[in-house]
Amino acid sequence: MPLPLLLVEDDAVLADGLVRTLQAQDMGVELVVDGLAADARLQAQPLPFSVIVLDIGLPGIDGFEVLRRLRARGAACPVLLLTARDAVEDRVRGLEAGADDYLVKPFASAELVARIRALARRVAPPPAQLGLGQLSLDSATRRARVGERVLDLSAREWGVLEYLLQHAGRVVSKQQIIDAIAPWGDDLTLNAVEVYVSRLRLKLDGARVAIRTIRGFGYLLEAAA
Ligand code: CA
Repeated sequence: MPLPLLLVEDDAVLADGLVRTLQAQDMGVELVVDGLAADARLQAQPLPFSVIVLDIGLPGIDGFEVLRRLRARGAACPVLLLTARDAVEDRVRGLEAGADDYLVKPFASAELVARIRALARRVAPPPAQLGLGQLSLDSATRRARVGERVLDLSAREWGVLEYLLQHAGRVVSKQQIIDAIAPWGDDLTLNAVEVYVSRLRLKLDGARVAIRTIRGFGYLLEAAA
């Protein structure tokens, strides 16, 4: 089934190219070319889109305002902002308005496709309680336990552990972990992920789970004797 997507972009040439690129990637694209039309379309209940790609500079109302109104209605649909310049204030404003990711124009279409896919993967909300072996995670309180012992985890260690547990029994790449826990940051490196994993291994002592290294690729979390 094609991934349902709303594209809000007033630049006709860019929009036309993006629609064709995304359709070729098995995405069902609906195009809207101004802010007020986007706002009207986004009042549908339930929202028929898995991801929204939203330009900031739009006729009518701008992308920030479209996003602000969307979030004010309580919609959690992931939003990727398109910005014309890599200005820190745009990035901060986007975050504050509730954006999940952003791309600076001009961008490679392959990068847009990859970011949309990463956002779509996060759509399905994971269960609040996750567990394996003696390890349990409560996503609502962000608390991890081994048996009765509460683990002292940094925010990033928590993110890595939660992602691994959500994908227990499956091999995940370091890049997938980075995409999941730092979608805004380009400051998280593959080496840093390795550091978090080695710290987690120490903290998971007694949990009867193992984070196995899949050489040259990533990790696999599984139950251990
Ligand atoms: Ca524009």
